[in-house]
Amino acid sequence: MPDTAAATLLIDGRRHSAPATFDVVDPASLDVLGQAADADVTHALAALDAAAAAARGWADTDPETRSGHLRAAAAEIRARQGELALLLSRENGKPLAEANGELTGGARMLEWAAEEGRRAYGRVTPASAAGPGLVLRSPVGPVLAITPWNFPASMLLRKVGLALAAGCPVIAKPAEQTPLIATALLDIVQATGLPAGVLQSLTTTRPAELVGALLADRRLRKVSFTGSTEVGLGLLRQTGDTLRRTSLEMGGHSPAIVFADADLEAAATGVVTAKFFNAGQSCTAVNRLYVHESVRDDLLALIEKKTAALRLGRGDAEGTTIGPLIDKAGLAKVENQVADAVAKGARVLIGGSRWESGDPALRGHYFRPTVLTGVTADMLISHEETFGPVLAVTTFTGDDEAIALANATDYGLAAYLFGSDLRRVWRALDRLDFGVIGVNDPAPVRPELPFGGQKNSGQEREGGAEGIEAYTETKAVALRF
Ligand code: NAD
Repeated sequence: MPDTAAATLLIDGRRHSAPATFDVVDPASLDVLGQAADADVTHALAALDAAAAAARGWADTDPETRSGHLRAAAAEIRARQGELALLLSRENGKPLAEANGELTGGARMLEWAAEEGRRAYGRVTPASAAGPGLVLRSPVGPVLAITPWNFPASMLLRKVGLALAAGCPVIAKPAEQTPLIATALLDIVQATGLPAGVLQSLTTTRPAELVGALLADRRLRKVSFTGSTEVGLGLLRQTGDTLRRTSLEMGGHSPAIVFADADLEAAATGVVTAKFFNAGQSCTAVNRLYVHESVRDDLLALIEKKTAALRLGRGDAEGTTIGPLIDKAGLAKVENQVADAVAKGARVLIGGSRWESGDPALRGHYFRPTVLTGVTADMLISHEETFGPVLAVTTFTGDDEAIALANATDYGLAAYLFGSDLRRVWRALDRLDFGVIGVNDPAPVRPELPFGGQKNSGQEREGGAEGIEAYTETKAVALRF
């Protein structure tokens, strides 16, 4: 099923075959799913040559034309959604329904970028004694877009859409676990008739080497990275003596607070959704649940029932609601956090172990959806991003205690509040140190909202009006008549 184009690289408007390829593994069965081209530093520099050469022309292309490419790509993704969702599900392991949702989300992000690109306004300031002032925005220039495997479609389309809409050429560097869906989507964008050099695609097993070579070249003007905090902070350190715009969307450790006045049925559904979506491998996944002691037992009974109803399996099999973890290291991390919590006194309410079905088609790395109660601050799971299907539950008595517990982390991406008292919710919104907050909403990511984190979860925003700004430079012009 995967396109043979996946074994080639897109550079300067043409597909190039690389001297080497690498295997792409189906995480559900561990079978080989296809091959991707393994780019080296020569390809990376050729991609930057092409992007640098295309930069002026693309910046001068009128925004309406740029928007047209993005709208056409979104329409094609919607038209081919079934086929693309199957590929995404097989390559990443997520249930088909989630793969379909991710592609719809990606198309919506392209559409938003197409609309916002036409509204990247500047400002005119009131005239001083000398004359008026202008604030102009211009495209930042060639962009490197580095994306992760957990949302390999939507993260890529969000970056590519916003950068192209702003007038910047892009070098996309998808994750090595999921190059096939990335290649298929980038082909769709290119096939809208983009001029040569405006979009490049580099799949590789040597990300550090390639990215290092690109960062050492002053022609690269922006890096937009989504991935782990460790790698993101490493990129900042590598910038060396050339400053460039850097957007970082990194790890998370999201708290969910359930107040005593919450609709418990809705809160339980919300927490289970935000926790187990993508098998817990989401930067916005709920890691820590803080529940008011007065509703603890009722809420946990609902959460246990809903967790028990989840069905493990292949993402592309009917009825599956939770798929495998991406690899062995992901499984080991989850097992280690559970063992550490249990050794320090946590109780397993449900799950707690690997799932092995004995079916050769399900040889991947599965972990049962798990809920741990009695979780305390000394446990690893209270500090480390889990990136797996484990919910850590702690009770609280006062609102300020819940907010302090939620903020007690170096991460600051997403948080969730469940409650009906607006005054209490507003007070919590004011005090929580997180970039994205869902109020009775387990899916707070929308194209029209700026997405991003505080503290070690990131800098700059993707989406909203801020999303275009992140790909533009500001020029202040003082006019004297
Ligand atoms: P990762 O950091 O290992 O990889 C992300 C990307 O960086 C991949 O394309 C990879 O090839 C590349 N990369 C890896 N090492 C590199 C290096 N030394 N130099 C340059 N590039 C390098 O992360 P991952 O495992 O793919 O993704 C999971 C992480 O991403 C989690 O921590 C998750 O929270 C985070 N994430 C964040 C967001 C967000 O928007 N904040 C969204 C999704 C995922």
